[in-house]
Amino acid sequence: MVNNEYIKLGNSPSIIRDLFAYGLEQKKKLGAENVFDYSLGNPSIPAPKEVNEAIKEILDTEDPVKVHGYSSAAGFDEAREAVAADLSKRFGLDVKAKEIFLSCGAAPALISIIKALCIGHESEIMVIAPFFPEYRPFIESNGAKCVIVPPDMKDFGINLEAAEKLVSKKTQGIIVNSPNNPSGAVYSREVLKELADMLKRKSAEFGHPIYIIADEPYRELVYDGVEVPFIPTIYNNTVVCYSYSKSLSLPGERIGYVYVPSFAEDSEDVYYAVAGAARIMGHVCPPTLIQKVIAACADKRPDLRAYDENRRLLYESLCGMGYECVKPEGAFYLFVKAPNGNAEEFSEKAKLEYNLLVVPATGFGCPGYLRLSYCVSKQTIINSLPAFRGMMEKHRSGIIP
Ligand code: PLP
Repeated sequence: MVNNEYIKLGNSPSIIRDLFAYGLEQKKKLGAENVFDYSLGNPSIPAPKEVNEAIKEILDTEDPVKVHGYSSAAGFDEAREAVAADLSKRFGLDVKAKEIFLSCGAAPALISIIKALCIGHESEIMVIAPFFPEYRPFIESNGAKCVIVPPDMKDFGINLEAAEKLVSKKTQGIIVNSPNNPSGAVYSREVLKELADMLKRKSAEFGHPIYIIADEPYRELVYDGVEVPFIPTIYNNTVVCYSYSKSLSLPGERIGYVYVPSFAEDSEDVYYAVAGAARIMGHVCPPTLIQKVIAACADKRPDLRAYDENRRLLYESLCGMGYECVKPEGAFYLFVKAPNGNAEEFSEKAKLEYNLLVVPATGFGCPGYLRLSYCVSKQTIINSLPAFRGMMEKHRSGIIP
């Protein structure tokens, strides 16, 4: 007997992966310049030069055995200290290394805190639409319920009224992802304060803390000087899940962390439960070499000029053609309304008629919208514009949606 739930999870189609695979095939047939692939959120800018310099330096100077050896489960002290120092400096907190648990990216960080907070069917975790689709299996595989807060269609902030109605005695946490995948929106300080006030009221009413799980892989990817408030400075009961996948363009190296502030309620228990959850997943001691890189580069930031140029070009071009787009303030996604409201149909026709690969956002909890990952070359955007124009013209003339 094999676990059916996992068979289904492992075997279920992913629209994003399918589009990406289709794009690779078409590129072989037609040439890369004729396929416009906006499917995957894979960084397209190189890691800061200090990262590669650090890798070389570490390999050249450190003990050749230890550099590939195990660290402690939570990671090397030097790496955790570097993360703590960077957070302290930026956000005016006194973060300690013992509050940091290094993880293999944001995904295991999220699973660890979800496992730490959930006790099977007794527990609910809220997510705010539109949301990263993996949240659902992360939550449901623990037997907990994934409660979806419907999107705020006005400006893709947080639908606070709906959120308040959905909080229950079973709510253990709410995942807050800002800058947001897929909308590119950044939640304002005001909306986060209102969320915090509501959660404080509800925690008091139900007699237990309701944690914010701040999923922050895109924290450094923000444009036009927009503020990304650091949620632990607004709401004490926050646990941060961070990743260097996007911020240092290191998704394949699998490195991130969980930060459990000592001022959060039951912080020691939460930290140990995160460690315990990571232990049973085997997600302890992230790759040693990359931990050492983080010790040297935790304070390095990406050069966002290429993303910013892409963001402006795509947003302005599509708006000019008549598409309705959410103004992207962060991450590297543009969220676009399907012209006739049917995103699946638009995506399929765009794929077949123009080799234009865009992801319908139904799985992100926002039907009728499309996600475009603009972490591509500027030339790809320029080459793709006639395809977007063609789709809009055909829609207007009633030929396709
Ligand atoms: N959370 C969000 C919102 C994401 O978009 C992603 C990856 O795309 C992750 C978490 C997982 O990131 P990681 O590569 O660090 O596991």
